[in-house]
Amino acid sequence: MRIPGSRKRVLVTGGAGFLGSHLCERLLADGDDVLCVDNFYTGTKENVEHLIGNRRFELMRHDVTFPLYVEVDEIYNLACPASPVHYQHDPVQTTKTSVHGAINMLGLAKRLKAKILQASTSEVYGDPEVHPQREDYWGRVNPIGVRACYDEGKRCAETLFFDYRRQHGLRIKVARIFNTYGPRMHPGDGRVVSNFIVQALRNQPLTLYGSGAQTRSFCYVDDLIEGLVRLMGSNDDFTGPVNLGNPDEFTIRELADMVIDVTGSRSKLEFHALPGDDPLQRKPDVELARAILGWQSTTPLDAGLRFTIEYFANRIDRAS
Ligand code: NAD
Ligand code: UDP
Repeated sequence: MRIPGSRKRVLVTGGAGFLGSHLCERLLADGDDVLCVDNFYTGTKENVEHLIGNRRFELMRHDVTFPLYVEVDEIYNLACPASPVHYQHDPVQTTKTSVHGAINMLGLAKRLKAKILQASTSEVYGDPEVHPQREDYWGRVNPIGVRACYDEGKRCAETLFFDYRRQHGLRIKVARIFNTYGPRMHPGDGRVVSNFIVQALRNQPLTLYGSGAQTRSFCYVDDLIEGLVRLMGSNDDFTGPVNLGNPDEFTIRELADMVIDVTGSRSKLEFHALPGDDPLQRKPDVELARAILGWQSTTPLDAGLRFTIEYFANRIDRAS
């Protein structure tokens, strides 16, 4: 229980990752005490090293597949590799992180009567036949494919969240996050925005999987973090799931052209085989977030790409 007058203590699992590090920064700026928990599987200490001198920030190495005993008021559960290359590297561990991690964090929330938010994903919709995707669409996921460790892991985590609410009255929030990009994505993490930017800055070929006609909708990280914080702060009756993303839809080919244009790169396009179960189209319906949270993304893709390119340009070695 929180001592009256004390600051809010917030746990961010996966806090040393791309999204987690931005969230920790935002919560500190809002005046909260932040406990960042991470096993550094895909995240790094560098992502949060600028926060380490802050007395309201604490960094703890811990794997969420094991129980955690701490005292907090709110939990953001972000721990899970998010890039297909990373989550398919050790698929059994990915499922364990999603499912055991959710059970452990929900158990913690239950003991503490804490509010808990799950970073779910547009991947719960699989390769969708409904477009754009609304929250009441149940999805089309291949349960035995190479993406299933992530997709089914996240679906099971959503189930656990809603069962903990029904069975134990927990205050839960579920965000279905669509492709988000920005500074602190790992340059080698294999996601399309970071891959294309790094390749373009090095004047290397941009690797397009398939024909590049598949679509995604890209949300800038600051917009996404605002959505997560608003969701956590929303009325206890509102659980989600709620889509958080930018509804502007682009083909991967259009993204490649835009990255080449903004970087002024000499890179050419190089076509590779499409990975298994790669969704053909993806675009969020964001009406629910707009209506309940008063939230919508405000950063257009070209502007967000400029911020992200500037970040990568300062960090990677360019080839001539
Ligand atoms: P990321 O890989 O940068 O961050 C994930 C973090 O979780 C890393 O710091 C990693 O070390 C940590 N982690 C992984 N397994 C762990 C474990 N067992 N115990 C403790 N820590 C562990 O990815 P991200 O893009 O920041 O994604 C954060 C969350 O948001 C993930 O849950 C992801 O599924 C979700 N999400 C992200 C996107 C996106 O586009 N970025 C889209 C949908 C959902
Ligand atoms: N992609 C690509 N080239 C790359 C990386 C990804 O063409 O170097 C494609 C990938 O096949 C997918 C889309 O870009 O269709 C988005 O991939 P990402 O890994 O970023 O995320 P996903 O939305 O598939 O989880």
